[in-house]
Amino acid sequence: MNDRTALVTGANKGIGKHIARLLAAEGLTVYVGARDAGRGQRAVEEIGAGARPLVLDVTDPDGIAKAAAQVDRLDVLVNNAGISLSLAPPTETGVEEFRRTYETNVFGVVAVTNAFLPALRRSPHPRIVNVSSGTASLAWSTHSNPQFTPGSGGAAAYRSSKAALNALTVLYAQTLAEEGFKVNALAPGLRATDLTPGAAAAGGDPAEAAQGALRLALLPDDGPTGGFFSWDATPVP
Ligand code: NDP
Repeated sequence: MNDRTALVTGANKGIGKHIARLLAAEGLTVYVGARDAGRGQRAVEEIGAGARPLVLDVTDPDGIAKAAAQVDRLDVLVNNAGISLSLAPPTETGVEEFRRTYETNVFGVVAVTNAFLPALRRSPHPRIVNVSSGTASLAWSTHSNPQFTPGSGGAAAYRSSKAALNALTVLYAQTLAEEGFKVNALAPGLRATDLTPGAAAAGGDPAEAAQGALRLALLPDDGPTGGFFSWDATPVP
C-alpha cells in the first residue's frame, strides 16, 4: 500500500526526525510534527520526498484540533515529542516541574491521540507508537533488578511521566484492540540528542533507535499490542 500516512510528533530533530525519515523511505506520506513552523519546514526539506510539514505543539489544544482537521486518514501515529527538564530526585523536584513535564510527555500524548483517533479509525491497520524510556521501567528500577542502587532515583519528573505513558499505552491497547489497533511503547536506549546534553559520548546513534520505532509502526496484524520494547525488539519489563 503506497497511500499510507504517518504522523511523528516532535519530528523536527533528534530521534523523531530519524523516525520520519525511515517512514518516508518506506513510502509513507509523513506529517513532520513540529511546534515551530520554521524548524518543521527545514526538517521536511532535509527528509525530502514523502515529508509534509504539520505545525503541532502537543500542549496546545486549539493547535492540535487544527492539525487533526488537516489529516483525513492516518495509519501510523508516533507520539515522540518529549521533554526532560532536570535530573533531580523527587525530593528536590518542585510540583511545577512535574506539571510541565507531564503536560508534554503524558497529557500531550492523550490530547494528540484522541484528536487523531477519527483519522486512525479510517486506517485498515492503525498503529500507535509511544516513545517512552527504559528508565521508566518500574521493574528495572526496583529490587527485582540486580543493578538496583540506592540513591538512583534521579530524573523523577521525567521517569515517572514515562511510567504514566507506559500505563496509558496498555490502556489504549486494551480499549482499541477489537478495532485492530496495535499500541506499543518503545524504549529507545540512551541516544546523543539535545535531550541528553553530556551524553554525546555515551549515547548511541539516534538513527538506530528509530529502527525500533519503525518496526512497531509497521507491525503485522498478528503483532503484539500493549507491549514495551527496546529498540532492538527485546521486551522491557
Ligand atoms: P530532542 O530534544 O532531540 O527532540 C525532542 C523533540 O520533541 C523536538 O522536536 C522538540 O521540538 C519536540 N517537542 C518538545 N516539546 C514539544 C511540544 N510541546 N510539542 C511538540 N513538540 C515538542 O530529544 P530526543 O530526540 O532524544 O527525544 C525524542 C523522544 O525520545 C522523547 O520522547 C524522549 O523522552 C525519548 N527518549 C530519548 C532518549 C535519549 O537518550 N535521547 C532516551 C529515552 C527516551 P523543539 O525542537 O521545538 O524543542
